[in-house]
Amino acid sequence: MTQVSDHGGGVRSLRVPIPDNPLGFTLVYVVDTDRGPVLIDTGWDDPASWDALVEGLTACGTSVAEIHGVVITHHHPDHHGLSAKVRDASGAWIAMHAADIAIVRRTRENRPERWFAYMAAKLAAAGAPEEHVAPLRSARDRPRALPGFSPALPDREIVPGELLALPGRRLRAIWTPGHTPGHVCLHLEEAHPARLTGNGRLFSGDHLLPRITPHIGLYEDPDDTTVTDPLGDYLDSLERVGRLGPAEVLPAHQHAFTDAPARVRELLAHHEERLTGLLGLLAEPLTAWQLAERMEWNRPWEQIPYGSRNIAVSEAEAHVRRLVKLGRAEAVTGSDPVTYVAV
Ligand SMILES: [Zn+2]
Ligand SMILES: [Zn+2]
Repeated sequence: MTQVSDHGGGVRSLRVPIPDNPLGFTLVYVVDTDRGPVLIDTGWDDPASWDALVEGLTACGTSVAEIHGVVITHHHPDHHGLSAKVRDASGAWIAMHAADIAIVRRTRENRPERWFAYMAAKLAAAGAPEEHVAPLRSARDRPRALPGFSPALPDREIVPGELLALPGRRLRAIWTPGHTPGHVCLHLEEAHPARLTGNGRLFSGDHLLPRITPHIGLYEDPDDTTVTDPLGDYLDSLERVGRLGPAEVLPAHQHAFTDAPARVRELLAHHEERLTGLLGLLAEPLTAWQLAERMEWNRPWEQIPYGSRNIAVSEAEAHVRRLVKLGRAEAVTGSDPVTYVAV
């Protein structure tokens, strides 16, 4: 049986499993409106996850065919995976922030040879050893070996600061870039049903979670050479959500919690500590790859699998970019691959 929680005031959550993932499940929220239930996120695209969603909706006294709309916090497959199936079954609209719609569009265009060439060049520039880059070069030559992946193209744009078209409810979009460029939190501007003090309730997606720190990736567009600062974006977004002071946070993983400002302070302190640690490592010039090798992860570097190493390097690079932007580190002139050093 799908685990359903009633959060009061016409808001429930369903635990939709994520197969083979330590996170366990995505919390899909069901928000009642005058035109039928609206979902916040949909869950991973897998038959067992779909069954859990369908079963959970039945337990809520509704059905997937009744869904009026789908609001997506960000494009990741544990949030947006089942959106196409929900739309097919109900005719619901799907809404997402434009920056994440752009990523969905790029993924759907599916030019793997170009993507692999881009990744190989990026990793080489970050100082990855040849044995790490080589598999990408050979994958580039046989792109048809790739599994197809085609996320649903949303049909509505979430406009930051605006109320969503949810009849009978006040749900405002708050743009919180960092975890992804188009991540949004959704602020339910209604009194807390249990009268907890604070400013409404916040659906926080992956932006603000009670016990884990979200990954900060790079999400670069091969066609765009702008140097982004996703960690800086994330820290700004965190402060914004802390100032909002919601009575309760309804995240997409783990469990609901109160005292958002305290959690925000913890996360800000965590990143400050991490940046200080990196500055220590950058006493000698290091490439992003060398930095990733020396950073602290949830297991030793030798045990980190191939794909996760790529994520780790992009995380290291996001932190270095923040340090450079703050004037606390700089690229060593003429280094190739580029090395960074504390200043
Ligand atoms: Zn995510
Ligand atoms: Zn997630």
